[in-house]
Amino acid sequence: MSPKACVIGAGPNGLAAAIVLAQAGLRVDVLEAEAIPGGAVRTLGLTLPGFRHDFGSAVYPLAAGSPFFSSLPLGDYGLEWIHSPAVVAHPLDDGTAVVLERDLSLAKSSLGQDGAAWSDLMQPFVEYWNEFVAEAMHPLPFFPRHPWLMARFGVLAVQPASMLVRRFQNERTRALFAGFAAHSFLSLGEALSGAFGMLMGISAHAVGWPIARGGAQSLTNALCGVLSNLGGKVVASSPVRSLEGLSEYDLFLCDVSPQNLIEIMGGELSRGYKLRLSSFRHGPGVFKVDYALNSPAPWKATECAQAATVHVGGSSGEIAKSEAAVRNGEVADRPFVLVAQPSLFDDTRAPAGKHTLWAYCHVPYGSTVNMIERIEAQIERFAPGFRDCVLARNVLFPADLERMDANLAGGDVSAGILDARQILFRPTSRQYATSARNIYLCSASTPPGAGVHGMCGYHAARMALSRLDRRS
Ligand SMILES: Cc1cc2nc3c(=O)[nH]c(=O)nc-3n(C[C@H](O)[C@H](O)[C@H](O)COP(=O)(O)OP(=O)(O)OC[C@H]3O[C@@H](n4cnc5c(N)ncnc54)[C@H](O)[C@@H]3O)c2cc1C
Repeated sequence: MSPKACVIGAGPNGLAAAIVLAQAGLRVDVLEAEAIPGGAVRTLGLTLPGFRHDFGSAVYPLAAGSPFFSSLPLGDYGLEWIHSPAVVAHPLDDGTAVVLERDLSLAKSSLGQDGAAWSDLMQPFVEYWNEFVAEAMHPLPFFPRHPWLMARFGVLAVQPASMLVRRFQNERTRALFAGFAAHSFLSLGEALSGAFGMLMGISAHAVGWPIARGGAQSLTNALCGVLSNLGGKVVASSPVRSLEGLSEYDLFLCDVSPQNLIEIMGGELSRGYKLRLSSFRHGPGVFKVDYALNSPAPWKATECAQAATVHVGGSSGEIAKSEAAVRNGEVADRPFVLVAQPSLFDDTRAPAGKHTLWAYCHVPYGSTVNMIERIEAQIERFAPGFRDCVLARNVLFPADLERMDANLAGGDVSAGILDARQILFRPTSRQYATSARNIYLCSASTPPGAGVHGMCGYHAARMALSRLDRRS
């Protein structure tokens, strides 16, 4: 009989791992702590009846462009990507907004004097997206199949975003790039912050930043559908606290945090490995608000209604200041706020004529500071009258996020800071493998890290399978 695998956690990485194992013919059960699978890819009724909110992730460049997810028939299981007319809007204090088109040649002309510099930076990777993304999401170190492309990326990616923005003459373009780089959770003066700016920009043109019709849950449901078709099973409301009662399984893939791995599997892991795991460092957390709105956000720059994602933070300098404060363990007075407005493009999210809005800002790990006033002041700055549109709001402090998904320790949505050290040793030099030969880690605390792409689960399962093969 084929080996039986237990995947702990039904986030996108756990589900990806389970699918790879089931494709290889293993019998697979996925044990999920929460009542609804998906982890940070769930849609919940957080405010009023009829309003559907993405609890965690909401916008999916990396899922739509994921080499593994792209190989799956997710559309057959109900997944439909929706692209807003523009990828992202970035409102500014003069009442206008930078609006980025998905088409790179259109973006080149609309970015004016910076169009050529923007296009030069992004174009090689946009053109060779499939080659690029497979290697960018490969665990390091490895010898790339496209050494020139990856060397070119590497030279740019190691630079701090604060250096890359100097390629642009216009503050508008600098603000746009700073907003992209702020997805890194790093200070924009830190090495590698530019890599995130690049990845966000490249994916914007190569695949777009789509939302899922029906919300994040549609992606999770489609992954569960693929798994079920392969004979795998997801068992919800089944938190795993130890290995007791799990002796039927030959192999464990754990979509859990490093700390949680120690708690569950501690008895199976060597002392040295546990010590190295416990030195894994978390990144900042997030403070999130979901809104039920009576009408769309009243952006001063009406073109903001063209984009599902709006970056609310003003100038590049302000964004840099906000992110530097958070990296220094402080909350920002004027935080950079990531906003998604899915109901403008997907009528399943709210009752007719009503809307949802998803917003969060970065805060120090585990912060207990209430950021609601500051978030709303930032939105009001660019959408005066926003507060009058609010029917209900649901606030999630870092501790709430962790309570609803154990992987979000301290509200850290990156599952561990992705700085120079932790990009290589994520979470240790063993990466997916642990000191126990049948236990693997497959969460976003392994390479390539955070984001909904499933590539952590994919690579972890491939490693587990290759070692099983060698043993048999
Ligand atoms: C507020 C927020 C906004 C985000 N925005 C985006 C975005 O727009 N786009 C994007 O690409 N990414 C975004 N992300 C990041 C992205 O969602 C995560 O990187 C991704 O979900 C990580 O996947 P995962 O499978 O590693 O972990 P998770 O999605 O966290 O899933 C882990 C699962 O394991 C379960 N689990 C943990 N411990 C146990 C246990 N002991 N027993 C059983 N089950 C367990 C959890 O309940 C959970 O279901 C966002 C995240 C958050 C929180």
